[in-house]
Amino acid sequence: MDFISLIKPMDKIEEEQEVIILGGGPAGLTAGIYAGRNLWKTLIIEKAIVGGNTALTEKIDNYPGFPEGITGEELVKRMEIQAKKFGSKILEADVLNFRIDGIWKIIETSNGIYRAPTLIIATGTRPRKLEVPGEEEFTGKGVSYCAVCDGAFFTGKRVAVIGGGDSAVEEAVYLTRFSEEVILIHRRDTLRAEKITQQKAFSNPKIKFLWSHIVKAIEGDKKVERLILQDLKTNEIKQLPIDGVFIYVGLIPNTEIFKDILNLDKDGFIITNEKMHTSVPGIYAAGDVRGKVLRQIVTAVADGAIAGIEASKFLEDIKYNKEV
Ligand code: NAP
Repeated sequence: MDFISLIKPMDKIEEEQEVIILGGGPAGLTAGIYAGRNLWKTLIIEKAIVGGNTALTEKIDNYPGFPEGITGEELVKRMEIQAKKFGSKILEADVLNFRIDGIWKIIETSNGIYRAPTLIIATGTRPRKLEVPGEEEFTGKGVSYCAVCDGAFFTGKRVAVIGGGDSAVEEAVYLTRFSEEVILIHRRDTLRAEKITQQKAFSNPKIKFLWSHIVKAIEGDKKVERLILQDLKTNEIKQLPIDGVFIYVGLIPNTEIFKDILNLDKDGFIITNEKMHTSVPGIYAAGDVRGKVLRQIVTAVADGAIAGIEASKFLEDIKYNKEV
């Protein structure tokens, strides 16, 4: 396909693509499989680990087809192999800037500038911070957002997990492999995690629950030594001696560079229709980064498939000079 006639002269353009996908998690890799199978020149740009947060998930029990469970690392490795098999290229780079020029979506990265008529945003989310005193100071010194990465540092120790969603409860269970005692601290007195995950936590003798408490501060000398907590029922302030704290209080979408260009919801997630179309023609969003009711790997890959197909249709329409 020849887009050359549509290109305005421009400095520093490194390489034209037909589909650019931002993010190499399950949504991005699946979009790469579907765009690649339609033989479009497809580039997936990933800033850190191919596989995203899924690569850091110890075991996945609810992805259909793997009744015995599968590690996140293996699942995304298979997706990566499949995306490459169908011709998608993967570039490791930070995305620095984004702009639109006519039909072109132009992505400036730490490793060159790329443009394509279609863009699939699958940039996922990052952990929300508690935003309490000591959190930033002790990150990497007892404060962590990744049990799989840091759990082993707390072998034989006592740790706290903050939050009541799937991430907090799953990771609390995971941490019991290493830690003597895991105290799950939640601001309410019921969990929002899946019931089967709750059952695993309730039946694990190493996990204790501290209900209706919030963290006011994280304190220590050179590393975390204690949490300052508030009991929301009595307003009492308490100290809890602890060696480490794992924070799982929700997700923030990685959408900052799109905020002036795309319609986002009040929490910053990209608004799409069921075809993954955003408010700009030729730009799609897939996976956890878009506003949706269920954030799971299985919904991320479904989004990625739809986005890959919709991007293909957009390119076909350009090819045959239909209005897009
Ligand atoms: P989440 O579902 O948004 O849960 C965040 C938890 O943190 C909630 O329990 C919330 O309390 C609590 N929280 C929020 N702000 C807080 C604050 N400032 N102080 C104290 N607690 C606070 O986040 P998540 O667990 O990371 O899950 C994100 C999405 O990924 C969800 O859709 C989840 O289902 C999905 N996920 C799925 C799996 C799986 O299927 N295996 C695994 C991980 C994640 P409240 O309950 O009071 O709001």
